[in-house]
Amino acid sequence: MSYTDLSYTDFQAEIAKVNDILCVVNLLAWDARTMMPPGGVDSRGQQVATLTSLARELATGDAMRRAIDAASSALASAPADDIRRRALVQAAGEIDILRRIPAALIAESAELKTRAHVAWAEARQANDFAGYVPVLDRMLAIQREISGAIGYAEHPYDALIGIYEPGMTRSQLQTLFGTLKAALVPLIEKARSVPQPRTDFLTRNYPVDRQKAFGLAMAERMGYDLQRGRLDDTVHPFEISFTRNDVRITSRFRETWLPAGFFALWHEAGHGMYEQGVAPEFTRSIFATDIVNLYAVGGASFGIHESQSRLWENRVGRSRKFWELHFPELKSYFPEQLADVSALEFWRSVNQVRPDFIRVEADELTYDLHIILRAEIEAALMAGEVKVKDLPALWAEKMQTYLGLTVPNDTLGVLQDVHWSHGYVGSFPTYTLGNIMSSQFFATARKVPHIAAGLESGNYQPLKTWLNDNIHSYGRSSKPSETLQRVTGSPLRTEPYIQDLTDKVASLIA
Ligand SMILES: [Zn+2]
Repeated sequence: MSYTDLSYTDFQAEIAKVNDILCVVNLLAWDARTMMPPGGVDSRGQQVATLTSLARELATGDAMRRAIDAASSALASAPADDIRRRALVQAAGEIDILRRIPAALIAESAELKTRAHVAWAEARQANDFAGYVPVLDRMLAIQREISGAIGYAEHPYDALIGIYEPGMTRSQLQTLFGTLKAALVPLIEKARSVPQPRTDFLTRNYPVDRQKAFGLAMAERMGYDLQRGRLDDTVHPFEISFTRNDVRITSRFRETWLPAGFFALWHEAGHGMYEQGVAPEFTRSIFATDIVNLYAVGGASFGIHESQSRLWENRVGRSRKFWELHFPELKSYFPEQLADVSALEFWRSVNQVRPDFIRVEADELTYDLHIILRAEIEAALMAGEVKVKDLPALWAEKMQTYLGLTVPNDTLGVLQDVHWSHGYVGSFPTYTLGNIMSSQFFATARKVPHIAAGLESGNYQPLKTWLNDNIHSYGRSSKPSETLQRVTGSPLRTEPYIQDLTDKVASLIA
């Protein structure tokens, strides 16, 4: 083995240690959200804090710096496109961002998070925004300080968006959101202007074990691998991985609301297939480690990740063809409950457009308006253009403008999301970016004849293999913008998404 190989091996060994710790943190997080008794919460918080700071020390420590320096000089004459050089540049870049955020700020944010979460839950319960203002004010001030520490060229929001979606900026978002708003508002009006579909049958009694069996059977057919995965129950569904070889998904089933459980399951299975599809040689490498967020993940960004979940949930799972093909199967699980329902009625019922106050219950058409509202508010907060105490009024004004709804109270308004209490500012836009990207990828995939034929016949293997080959296998070695360009031949575009939604409304009201 040459000197070059040895120094690169040292670097990989250092990254592998960080990845191992972060995979264990993920396992602890999975346990906390599925199995852990309530009494475990304080100890678990300490365990996660200790391991996360260990990972941070390893990532920013001398051994890592020496390993990167040695391997970089050993590989200086290697070709510019050598994957090892890319790994070194990526690690150094992410470590640099992590270093810029003062440890004291991270510690204060983490400490405040516990108190802020309690304050938020109480405020939401009591519809008392005023009581939540002091702690939220401090939490948002910390995020502004973090933004300043990371640095930005144009807008303080940019530094925070970049944590979740490297390369994305507020000004790019403004353009995308402007186009999207202009298209969505009239589409929603159009969908609402016709008689609304039947939904009475969705609230009948559907035993949860059967819902789960159907949902999981379909997820397996899509390509989620149960040899390297499993499904558990939770309150807020999520996916999490401990390397590509163990990728967990969760869902929440309700006996008297049929669609919630399996659509959430397919969403999480979409995330899960991404993680399971990362190239085996990237296991425990920088291409399966997000150093900035100190998070073990194989996906290129939060937005690209979301594109995979939305693709399976919405582009495939909410399509008319899907229910023409699979409604008989659903009916075989629930012959009595669905005796008087047709495939077409079922498809319409799970695509009903209905402006509502709550983001997580929003349909595909109104969902992005909830996100745009939040992103605009976050940008204004980070720029210091709006005060925390004025948020309820601003929220109400935007809900009126975008969705035509009068917010009755703060519990159904500004207090509905947990994100800000945890210090997450800048992650909301990745949900809409994921929606936009899902259509861009799907439009490209559908042009491949055997993928299109598979979608027509319920064979999802060709689509899943194409996603594996073009997106998943790259792990974090391909940046979001590179991925879009390489796979679809163009940068991020809203047109395919707007086209999908336009087509959907047209067929819903036909
Ligand atoms: Zn998701």
